[in-house]
Amino acid sequence: MEVERKIPFVYHRNIEFVPFINHASLNKTPREWVSISFPKEAEYPDLSIAKFEAVRCWACGQCEFSSMATWAMNCPTATFPKKYRQAAYRGQGKHMSVLGLLQGYIDPSPELVDIAFFCNLCGNCTLQCSMGLGSDPVVSVMALRRTLVKLGMGPPPAHRKFASMIKQYHNPYGEPPEAKFAWLKRKVEVKKKKADIAYFAGCTGPYRTPEVCEATTALLEAAGADFTILGGDEWCCGSPLYMVGLWEESKETLEHNIALLEDLGISRFISTCAGCFRQFYEGPKKLGISKPSFEVLHSSQLLCEYINSGRIKPKSIPTEKVITYHDPCHLGRHVGIFDDPREILSNLPGVKFIEFERTAHHAWCCGAGAGVMSGYPELARFAAIERLKEAKGVGASYISTACPFCVLNMKRADEAVGFGLEIGDVVQLLERSLR
Ligand code: SF4
Ligand code: SF4
Repeated sequence: MEVERKIPFVYHRNIEFVPFINHASLNKTPREWVSISFPKEAEYPDLSIAKFEAVRCWACGQCEFSSMATWAMNCPTATFPKKYRQAAYRGQGKHMSVLGLLQGYIDPSPELVDIAFFCNLCGNCTLQCSMGLGSDPVVSVMALRRTLVKLGMGPPPAHRKFASMIKQYHNPYGEPPEAKFAWLKRKVEVKKKKADIAYFAGCTGPYRTPEVCEATTALLEAAGADFTILGGDEWCCGSPLYMVGLWEESKETLEHNIALLEDLGISRFISTCAGCFRQFYEGPKKLGISKPSFEVLHSSQLLCEYINSGRIKPKSIPTEKVITYHDPCHLGRHVGIFDDPREILSNLPGVKFIEFERTAHHAWCCGAGAGVMSGYPELARFAAIERLKEAKGVGASYISTACPFCVLNMKRADEAVGFGLEIGDVVQLLERSLR
């Protein structure tokens, strides 16, 4: 049955409006909504995955908040000032954009590109809505991005630039591939066959926050781990490409890395970067690649294991600072790892620890991810400064996290506002405790 087109209720009258389509009044039950056929489905096949999500949204707006942290705003896009406070840029707006396209009420436009890409894909909306209708705006954002890429209208220029850097240099920063491990102080056999562990350094760590990578290798060495690295043959994991809808390119680089690692016959893969970890952990399934033959772990999981087995014995660290922990979205909400980094911190004797108000499942995003740092630096900076203010508010002077990309974005923001907070990865704190 084809839906009869009705005059939409336009709940935003600005140029970036989205039509609200009242599906609940249609003569179908909620279970049948997924079978509704829209006039433009054939034109936008990549939107079909989001159809069931979008029709269940009733635009309540809960996805902008944290229902645990006293209903604080928790969607960076919705909180960002200026035109981005319009509903079109929020969780429900992403759903309505999908429905607007499928119904033919709106057409692909530069405004729609902005709506689709001005989002951190932080997953707060997914979580908040899951407590109600369970309609996932992230699915709609990804479907919109993919559709716009297929139509040749996306991603925005900054994303195209990093994609071409990845193609040419195998990293989004355009840095020389042979310099990727220039930070490495210790002797590590590159591409060692049958090593127990492969340490995947990623791109942000080696080129922008090498101290995180150096601490990780120091800890592996201290634990007596049998580990290797890929050296200059390590390519970008492809997470940034996936996030901006460039799936073929993302698949190509992920396949390259997995093939190299499988050829070495390693048993376990670790990454300190939450984005690389998520890409290896769930990317193969999303991109139609076979599950890797090796186990995929985030560094925090492996280091917890080492602490619990006594292979690493933390001592107290020489700091009077009050430490808090920022959950990276790709590690926390996306994959569900909240405890391991906290367990590492709880094993550091004498550390004064305090949680953020918006924490764990309800954490505020640092603002860097999903192409925002390159494509919309003003949003990345805004979100990071919000996090710094929150850290100060709870009395923390050190923000620890478990991702070099979060470290980089929050450090840059701190330099801009001069709060004087210390920002680092939990691996750095753990490594400091062994000295
Ligand atoms: S996505 Fe969920 S929480 Fe957000 S407006 Fe729609 S129904 Fe409400
Ligand atoms: S993914 Fe995050 S930034 Fe994007 S709409 Fe949802 S809550 Fe907002």
